[in-house]
Amino acid sequence: MSTPPASAASSYRDTLNLLDTPFAMRANARKREPELQAFWAEQRLYERLARSGPSDAGRPAFTLHDGPPYANGALHVGHALNKILKDIINKHALLQGKRARFRPGWDCHGLPIELKVLQTLRPEERQALTPLDLRRRARAYALEQVELQRRGFQRWGIWGDWEEPYLTLDKAYEAAQIGVFGRMALAGHIYRGLKPVHWSPSSRTALAEAELEYPEGHTSASVYVAFPVVEVPPSLQTPLRLAGIEGPTDHDHREQLFVAIWTTTPWTLPANLAVSVNGNLDYAICRDGSAEAPRYLVVAAALVERLSQTLERPLEALATVKGSELVGLLYRHPLLDRTSPVVVGGDYITTESGTGLVHTAPGHGVDDFLTGRAHGLGVLCPVDEGGTLTDEAGPFAGLNVLKDANPAIIQALRDSGTLLAEQAYAHRYPYDWRTKKPVIFRATEQWFASVEGFREQALAAIAEVCWLPESGRNRIEAMVRERGDWCISRQRHWGVPIPVFYHRSSGEVLLDKESLDHLQALIAAHGSDVWWERTEAELLPPSRAAEADQWRKGTDTMDVWFDSGSSWAGVLGGLTPSADAPTGLNYPADLYLEGSDQHRGWFQSSLLTSVAVHGHAPYNKVLTHGFVLDEKGRKMSKSLGNVVDPAVLVEGGANEKQAPAYGADVLRLWVSSVDYSADVPLGPGIVKQLADVYRKVRNTARYLLGNLHDFVPDRDAVAIAELPLLDRWMLARTATLIDEVNRYFEAFEFYRFYQALQNFCVVDLSNVYLDIAKDRLYVSGADDFRRRSCQTVLHLVVERLAGLIAPVLCHMAEDIWQNLPYRDKAKEVEPSVFERGWPAVPEEWKWDNAYDFETHAHIKDLLLGLRPLVNRGLERCRQQPTGGAATGGAATRGAAPGKGIGASLEAQVQLSFANDHPLRAALDTLERSAHPEVDNLKDWLQVSALAIDGPPPAEVLAEEEEAGVTVRLARAAGQKCERCWHYSDDIGAHPTHPTLCGRCVDVLARSSPA
Ligand SMILES: [Zn+2]
Repeated sequence: MSTPPASAASSYRDTLNLLDTPFAMRANARKREPELQAFWAEQRLYERLARSGPSDAGRPAFTLHDGPPYANGALHVGHALNKILKDIINKHALLQGKRARFRPGWDCHGLPIELKVLQTLRPEERQALTPLDLRRRARAYALEQVELQRRGFQRWGIWGDWEEPYLTLDKAYEAAQIGVFGRMALAGHIYRGLKPVHWSPSSRTALAEAELEYPEGHTSASVYVAFPVVEVPPSLQTPLRLAGIEGPTDHDHREQLFVAIWTTTPWTLPANLAVSVNGNLDYAICRDGSAEAPRYLVVAAALVERLSQTLERPLEALATVKGSELVGLLYRHPLLDRTSPVVVGGDYITTESGTGLVHTAPGHGVDDFLTGRAHGLGVLCPVDEGGTLTDEAGPFAGLNVLKDANPAIIQALRDSGTLLAEQAYAHRYPYDWRTKKPVIFRATEQWFASVEGFREQALAAIAEVCWLPESGRNRIEAMVRERGDWCISRQRHWGVPIPVFYHRSSGEVLLDKESLDHLQALIAAHGSDVWWERTEAELLPPSRAAEADQWRKGTDTMDVWFDSGSSWAGVLGGLTPSADAPTGLNYPADLYLEGSDQHRGWFQSSLLTSVAVHGHAPYNKVLTHGFVLDEKGRKMSKSLGNVVDPAVLVEGGANEKQAPAYGADVLRLWVSSVDYSADVPLGPGIVKQLADVYRKVRNTARYLLGNLHDFVPDRDAVAIAELPLLDRWMLARTATLIDEVNRYFEAFEFYRFYQALQNFCVVDLSNVYLDIAKDRLYVSGADDFRRRSCQTVLHLVVERLAGLIAPVLCHMAEDIWQNLPYRDKAKEVEPSVFERGWPAVPEEWKWDNAYDFETHAHIKDLLLGLRPLVNRGLERCRQQPTGGAATGGAATRGAAPGKGIGASLEAQVQLSFANDHPLRAALDTLERSAHPEVDNLKDWLQVSALAIDGPPPAEVLAEEEEAGVTVRLARAAGQKCERCWHYSDDIGAHPTHPTLCGRCVDVLARSSPA
C-alpha cells in the first residue's frame, strides 16, 4: 500500500474524476469545420440520406425547391440568410427520415451578365462581336461565377446536389423552358402585340415590372398646355352661346376656346392623338382674365380655383358641362399640323391633379393605349430604341426624350403661345434597376403572356397555397389581380430564344406544335446556341424545308423571369409528372422559400407558368424572409462601411484580432436567431453575442463529454426507473425541450429554438444540474451509483443535444458525436449524428410517466425556487470580505469581522418556513427519495450543512426572506476537507488522511483497496 503524503493537496486532486475530452474549448472552426465536411463527403452522407435508393421506397420525399440566385458577384449575407434557412429545414427533414433532396440552382442568362462581358471588351472588339461570341463569353462568365458561389455555399455547410446543380443555361433546362412556352402558346396564352411597355433607352430593351425601381427624388418638367379648339359639336353650341362665348360661326371658335391639359412628359406631346375626359365629371368653361383678346379654357369644374393660382391668371367659370358633352370637340395640335378629338377615357381621369383633361398618347402609356384602342386612335410612337425622336416627331426629330427633347418642346410651346405654365414636379418615377436611368413607356412589337387568359385560375391557385407569413397571400393576390399581361420578350442575345419564325413577305408568325416540338428537341440536344448557329433551313421542321427561304427566325430572347419561372418544369420534372419521377423531387414542391420581394418575382413567374400549363401552383407552401440590415436598421452599403462579409465572418479577416474566424456555425446560429418574418439585423455587436452563445453551447457539450470518459452505456448506465429524482427532473426537462424544439421547427420559428437552446444550456444545465453534479462527478468513487446515475443522464442528454442542434450547428453537432468517448465501445452509436435521426422523447422520460405531477412540481420548486434564494444570500455573503488572509479581515457593517464567505461550501444554511408552506411538502417528497445520496437538499444547495427550523446559527452573515421562506447563512462549522472542500467535523479523525473528511477517506479506501 502506498500512502500519498497527506499534506500534498495536489495529490488528492489526482484522486478526483476530472474532465477529460479531446473536444476542445475552442472550436478552431477554420480547420475543424472543413474536416467534418470532408468526413460527410467521404461517408457520402447527404447522398445516402437524401437520394432515393431501392431500399428507400417507404421514405417520403420532401422537396424544398431552390430559387436560383443570379450567377453574378460575391456571396453576401442575404445569400447566407436564404441558403442557410433552406439548409436548416432540409437537415431537419433528413433527420426526420425524409428524402430531402436539395438541388441548388443558378439563374444564368440576362442583361447583367451580358453587360459584364461587354464591359471587358474594347470598343473595336465590341463592334466585331457576333451574338454567338457574346453568348460563349457570357456562358463562360456565368460558369465562373457559379463555381465561386458554389464553393462559398459549401463552406457554410449547406448540403445539396453540388455536383449536379441546375443551371438555366443547361440544355435540358432550356428545352423544358421551351416546352413550357410551347404549351402556353398552343393553349392561346402567348401573343404578339404592339404595346407600350416599360422601355429602358439606356439598355435599349423592354423591362419587366421586377426590373424597375423607384428612387427617391425624381423630378419631372411638367407643363400646362392650351390646345386650341377648331371645331365645336352641336351639343356644345347652345351652352357656349348662353355663356356669351361666340366665335366666327357656331362651330368655329378658332383661337378663342382651348382645352387645357397637363403632362409630366412634354416629350410625349408630338405623339398626342387625343384629349381624354371623364364622362361623369363636370367641366367648366372659364374666361381667362389675363388675356387681352377673349380667351376661354376648358378645365374640370372642381379645379377652377386651384388652377387659377397655378396658372397665375383669373379664371371665371361661365358654364358647366358634363365630360360626355365635350366629346366631338376637335383641337389643333399645338406644335404639329394635325387635328385630334376629345374622347371619353376611363375612371383613371380624376381631379386629383392636372386639369381633369388628359393628354393622350397611345404609344406612350397604358391608359392612353387602352383609350386609344377603344376609340380607334391608332398608335403613334415617334421614339426609337435609344430614346431619340424620329421623323414622325416633325421638327423635334433627333432630340432625345431623356435629354434635350423636353426643353426644345417647352420652348416651342412658349413660342406658340400655348404654354400656360411650367412646373418642376416631384413624383414616383420608374428607373432601370441596372443602369439607374429613367425608363419610358414606348410601344413596340413584343411577345406577351396573356395573364387575362388564366387570371382567375391563378387567383384560385393562390387560395390553395399555404403562405407564411399569411400576409404573403394578400400581397401576391393583389399583384396578380391587378397585373397586366406579361411582356416576355427581350431584345438581347444572352438568353433562351423565343422560338418563332416570321414570314418574310406576309409577316405571318410560325408558332405551331410541329415547329415547337422540333425546336425543343434541337435545343435538348444542342443547347439554345443552336438558334444562332443554324440557318432557318436547319431550324425549321423537315416538312417546311422546301419553304425555308420564306421564313426568318426571330431575334428576341425570353425575359429571365420566364427562365427561372420554368424551374418547376426544368428541375422538378413538372412537364412529365409521374409517380416514379426520376428526379426524386416533388412537383408541386413542398416548399418555396425566398425573400419577400419574390411575390412579384419568382413566386409569381413560377405560379403563372405552372397555372397556365397545369392549372395549379408549383408549390404547396411558400415561406418568405426579410432582408438583412445593419444593427441600426440601415441598408448595408460600401459607402456606409456597415457591410458584414460572410466570408470574413467565417474565415476571418486580414486582421485576426479585429476579425477572428468565427466559423460557419456562428453564421448559421445567426440565421437561426433572427425573426426573419421581418427585416433582420446583423453587425459586429450581434456577432459577438452570437459567438458568446456559441461558446456557451460548446462548453456545455464539452462538460458533458468530459465527464463521460470512463462511461460505457452498456456496462455503466443506470435504468431510467432507478434514477434519483434530480436526474428524472433533468430528463423530463430535456423531454420538454425536445417537444418544444419540434414545434418550433415544424413552424419554421428557429429563433424560438435559439432561445430555448440557450435557456436549456445556461439555466437548466449549467446553472442547476451540472452545478450540483460537480460533487457527484468529481468527488465520488468512479463507479459509485451517484456518479454513474449522473453520467447516465449526461450521455442521454448530450446525444439529444447533438441531434437537436444538428440542423443549425451542424459542425458542432457532428464534432460532439465524433467525440462521444464510448462510440467505439458501444455498438448502437451510428457513424454520424445525422444517421441517428431526430431526437424522440422516450415515454419514460416524461414527468407524468416518471412520477406524479406533484412530485415534479416539488422538485422544480426546490431547484428553481429555493436554490436561487439561497444563492442570493450567498452572493450577499461574498460581497462581504472573505475570511482571514485574503483581505486582512476588514470589517463591514452587519457582518462579523473576518467571517465572509467565498465558496458556497464554506456556508451552512438554516431554513425556516411559514406554517403549511408548500416547500415543506416538497421537502417531504425529497425525504422519501430512494437515493438520499443524490436527492438531498444540502447537496442541491451546495452547502456544507443544512438545518430546517430550530434555532438560528450563532453568527448569521446574511438573511433572505421571500414568500414565507427565511434563509439564514453562516460560516460552516468544522474544517475544510482538502479533497472535496466540504466543511466537516471529522477532519483529522482519520490518521492516514488527516486532512480529509470521512466520505473522502471512504472513497479512497474503495478505489485503492489495500
Ligand atoms: Zn471530503
